[in-house]
Amino acid sequence: MAKAYFDETDEKTDELYMKQALTQAKKAYKQGDTPIGCVIVYKGEVIARGYNRRNKDKLSLSHAEILAIKKASKVIGDWRLEGCTMYVTLEPCQMCAGAIVQSRIPRVVIGCMNKKAGSCGSVINLLDMKEFNHRVSITKGVLEASCSKLMSDFFADLRVGAINKDQGGTHGTA
Ligand SMILES: [Zn+2]
Repeated sequence: MAKAYFDETDEKTDELYMKQALTQAKKAYKQGDTPIGCVIVYKGEVIARGYNRRNKDKLSLSHAEILAIKKASKVIGDWRLEGCTMYVTLEPCQMCAGAIVQSRIPRVVIGCMNKKAGSCGSVINLLDMKEFNHRVSITKGVLEASCSKLMSDFFADLRVGAINKDQGGTHGTA
């Protein structure tokens, strides 16, 4: 075993929590929202969960990460989420990356990258700007295949009309 025990434990732990983020993403899928899920872990415990509800809420702010940050702040009783790790199935956008920096989250674990809009290394890396007073450590590619398959399955469903984007909305017929 060449690796230190810490690294090995960490890798497995990351996969465990990413699985929980994937469970959240599937909830978004079911309601016709792009399947993105997130959990926030503090001292070895999941303290907040979130999944994308942008379409359901008809609100651009309802990203998985923002909803999870809100919950975690409530649990911790502080806007500072120091000591927390965020697990998210898709690379956060500019809004969420901004919120991650603002809430002082020290580490983010990402499933798959988002070449078109990702703001943690793809388009820009807002988590690692030396000009900002807080920088975030990033781990990429955890359960990457499962995370990206969920996305491609969703968009395939969308193309064939298997998903009603108004499902669950206030004007939905379901
Ligand atoms: Zn976002």
